Amino acid sequence: MKIEFKKVGFNQKEIKIDDKNLKLQGNIVREDSNLVDLKGTLKGSVKVECRRCGKEFSLPIEERLHLKLSDGVYRGSLEEADVVEFYEGSIDFDELMESERESVRLDYHLCDECKNKKE
Ligand SMILES: [Zn+2]
Repeated sequence: MKIEFKKVGFNQKEIKIDDKNLKLQGNIVREDSNLVDLKGTLKGSVKVECRRCGKEFSLPIEERLHLKLSDGVYRGSLEEADVVEFYEGSIDFDELMESERESVRLDYHLCDECKNKKE
């Protein structure tokens, strides 16, 4: 799903993204001419790999998400939230979900078997 930046207003708009096993539910609201605020909850599961044995397993996810979505390159600096830049004038939620998934994958995960194994 894509939403054009120019269609995001100053009134909060509810969004629901259902992307395979991952759901994003939240609100977007315009913050200034180039920036949109997204607050929501990410819920579902992500396929990750065990760092020890390499087995793929499904990791349950439930986390709060706070992002600033930038229409083009963002030149400021923000500490309150991560900034995600989009370059085609619209917010690409498929891309956003994929990058959230990717960042979960990059964390350190162990499957139940390896977790329970004594060193
Ligand atoms: Zn394992």
